Amino acid sequence: MKRTLAISACLLGHRVRYDGGHKAWPLAEKMVELGVTWIPFCPETECGLGVPREPMRLEGIPEAPTVITIHTRQDHTATLRAWSGQRLTEWGRMAIDGVLWKGRSPSCGLIGVPVYHASGQQQAMGQGIFARACQGCFPHLPMTEADRLPEWQAVTAWIRSW
Ligand code: SF4
Repeated sequence: MKRTLAISACLLGHRVRYDGGHKAWPLAEKMVELGVTWIPFCPETECGLGVPREPMRLEGIPEAPTVITIHTRQDHTATLRAWSGQRLTEWGRMAIDGVLWKGRSPSCGLIGVPVYHASGQQQAMGQGIFARACQGCFPHLPMTEADRLPEWQAVTAWIRSW
């Protein structure tokens, strides 16, 4: 099985989360043994926000939210959108077979990411900024969240569904 899959870098154990941690996905190595090549990405560090950084959340209109830091209220939407456009242009020139996302992230969450009102009240569910842009750009590209692949059977079923 030769596949090239993009993956949220924290799922590969890269310490790129806001608090310097990771969310290593235990099945990533097994997929390498089967021939998968991972292309890691981290929108928040690669756009220049650094590690550690202040946590962020989605706010506003669920279909077109802004990304705001929770404590100091900095708006990183334009920075993340600009980075997303550049990265998706690169992916358009590469032969990527799919994307595996870290869920619930304001950048990488593919589904069910909380969108808040400025008051702090959760008002809806949406998609992370980069995940939304990617799905809009490549609507037929297979993609899912690692949380949806908790065991090997689910991984193979996902790949067979392409
Ligand atoms: S969820 Fe996405 S933006 Fe957040 S640390 Fe992981 S790769 Fe980076």
